Amino acid sequence: MGTRVAVVGSGPAGFYAADALLKSEDPPVEVDLIERLPTPWGLVRLGVAPDHENIKAVSRAFERVAARPGFRLFGNVEVGRDVTHDELAAIYDAVIYSVGAQTDRQMGIPGEDLPGSWAATEFVAWYNGHPDFQDLEFDLSGTTVVVVGNGNVAIDVARMLALTAEELAPTDTTDPAIDAINGAGIEEIVMLGRRGPAQAAFTPPELQELGELAGADVHVAPADLELDPASEAALEQDRDRARRNVDILREYSTRPTASGKTRAIRLRFLTSPVAIVGEGKVEAVEVVRNRLETDERGRIVAVPTDERETIPCGIVFRSVGYKGVPIPGVVFDERTGTIPNEHGRVEPGLYVAGWIKRGPSGVIGTNKKDATETVGLVLEDARAGLLSHESDEGLDEVLRRKGVEFVEYPGWEAIDAAERAAGEPRGRPRVKLTAWQELLDAARAGAPS
Ligand code: FAD
Ligand code: NAP
Repeated sequence: MGTRVAVVGSGPAGFYAADALLKSEDPPVEVDLIERLPTPWGLVRLGVAPDHENIKAVSRAFERVAARPGFRLFGNVEVGRDVTHDELAAIYDAVIYSVGAQTDRQMGIPGEDLPGSWAATEFVAWYNGHPDFQDLEFDLSGTTVVVVGNGNVAIDVARMLALTAEELAPTDTTDPAIDAINGAGIEEIVMLGRRGPAQAAFTPPELQELGELAGADVHVAPADLELDPASEAALEQDRDRARRNVDILREYSTRPTASGKTRAIRLRFLTSPVAIVGEGKVEAVEVVRNRLETDERGRIVAVPTDERETIPCGIVFRSVGYKGVPIPGVVFDERTGTIPNEHGRVEPGLYVAGWIKRGPSGVIGTNKKDATETVGLVLEDARAGLLSHESDEGLDEVLRRKGVEFVEYPGWEAIDAAERAAGEPRGRPRVKLTAWQELLDAARAGAPS
């Protein structure tokens, strides 16, 4: 028998880790991939925007990993609820946590929890069909939406809200989300960046796409694009992202203000929310104008001025970053929302990969290098004789003893087939099953008897 490794979390980091482990010959490795949902792929299924179907296609590479000898999926199994870390540590030589960042960062301003103030994490999970988020009700009847943050998730949220019925129809966005977006009263989506255009975290292709929407114009005030000397200098050093972003924004600032499209996306910079206000629900965001300063570490930071303004709006999406949550029995750094590690090793036998290792940033491909680095250390520790397990019981036996129903890969394939079959006659890649019971029922149909 080879080295037994549990990988917890089936997003990109988990699959890239499984891939690197299963390629090892010295030692040979068997991988059990444990996932709390009945479905794999993490944010590729439940985060990546539904109108970016080509990006979701990375799951084909993960399907090839799952087909390798030595791979086994245990879906519908949450570590910390259905099985403990200590139980895993007893039956595996090594455990790699690749559980991502399951919640949102807080801004710490008054009114953040008012009804109508939502984390982007919630909205994204809802329109993508995450089974834990389907009971949420987003009131999109107001004319103005505020999206806080200048990252690619903020762009995803703004773009999804601006898509036309024709743009949404061929996607795997859930039906309730399609209906809500089509029926929304939205006229303006205001995106707030606390720093300037040269510091925006979005990537140029995503920013460019905002300017190519069928049903929405994009606006930027020329005054917002005036750069301070430090930002000008930064543009010279970051020609791939910052320079290209600013060029795209400058082109947006020259566009006519009205073109007959029904919705508008307004990008504002140097503007921070200081409070979300309203009687029992969101009615406005109070913002402050910022100026930029270079701090003692050389970082360009936003500093508030006295200039304040109120932006009336019906709903707010806070898109200021994701945050990791602890796994019971495993060390955790509350401040960074990560499991403390060195290059992926917490200690011999316990490792991390992906967003729980380095924090919630980076695209899908970033997790490949990251997971490969971690696996290098697992193999190094295995070859050094540092890894062992106490129990020869299999995870399937432990789960059966505890009465936990788990979804194996054929169960997921049955869910996948059911979803694709439902999508096909409607010209959509799939119609997702979004309720736990539906997912488990579909998985049972594919389970080996
Ligand atoms: P995740 O993908 O989050 O996977 C973690 C998995 O762990 C999940 O399946 C979760 O259910 C599971 N899990 C959590 N806790 C437990 C537990 N206790 N027990 C068992 N399982 C558990 N990158 C791009 O390249 N292109 C894009 O278009 C793109 N769009 C994005 C859109 C959004 C909204 C977001 C948030 C990110 C996007 N990214 C995109 C970035 C990319 O999705 C991430 O880099 C990547 O998913 C991080 O991988 P991960 O494996 O660390 O985490
Ligand atoms: P992100 O890129 O880190 O952006 C977070 C944004 O929130 C930044 O603009 C940040 O501003 C701002 N912010 C943080 N705290 C704030 C506060 N208190 N008030 C106001 N603004 C605040 O995070 P993300 O958008 O969640 O994306 C996560 C990762 O997924 C990124 O690497 C992203 O590229 C990736 N992703 C990729 C795609 C794609 O490729 N299409 C799509 C989605 C996500 P500061 O810079 O000033 O801190």
